[in-house]
Amino acid sequence: MSFTSLGLSDQLLKAVAEKGFTKPYPIQQQAIPAILKGKDVLGIAQTGSGKTASFALPILQRFAGLTPLRNRSIRGLVLVPTRELAVQVGEVFQELGQYLSRRIKTVAVFGGVSINPQMMQLAGTEILVATPGRLLDLIASKAVRLSEVEVLVLDEADKMLNLGFKEEMDQIFALLPNERQNVLFSATLADDVAAIKEKLLINPVTIEI
Ligand code: AMP
Repeated sequence: MSFTSLGLSDQLLKAVAEKGFTKPYPIQQQAIPAILKGKDVLGIAQTGSGKTASFALPILQRFAGLTPLRNRSIRGLVLVPTRELAVQVGEVFQELGQYLSRRIKTVAVFGGVSINPQMMQLAGTEILVATPGRLLDLIASKAVRLSEVEVLVLDEADKMLNLGFKEEMDQIFALLPNERQNVLFSATLADDVAAIKEKLLINPVTIEI
């Protein structure tokens, strides 16, 4: 299977080629078509599997055809456990989205650094990659709104739970609109991850790598 057969636009394929990806990894072969179709996806996959591009590419493609939002609303929310992963995932969205005819602004926010520069960056953001605590701080400061979120991604959900973010995650889920697409990636399907799966995902396509 090739990237061209996955239903991605030429602009995204150009960015994929530039990154040196010649063939889609198994997670990408399965997750990209499912996410493009708007399905909920459960991916049991480790770091290094290529999971980031497996959600970034279809999300960028879906959003590229839409008009930008206003009022501090974001359209895509990617929750991650750590600052390092936030930065990394944000960069993947930027690189893969660089040739789209419409710029889709992606910003990464995380705790442990001052909040003001992050708040100033947020205007016009369409995809936010965030650690849970910092996201709640930004919501409390009215710097971001979740009421228009169309796609939620939980990346490394098991690690987020292991780091004690359950309560923050629940607070965030309560602020999301009911109708949305959900993508959950985790290295394991431990009980607490399974509980989140049951709560959030509707008829998910399950991919186990
Ligand atoms: P991830 O699991 O998303 O952190 O990706 C692991 C590494 O694999 C990253 O360095 C990606 O740039 C790289 N990668 C992802 N997909 C592909 C692909 N289809 N071909 C080659 N490298 C890839």
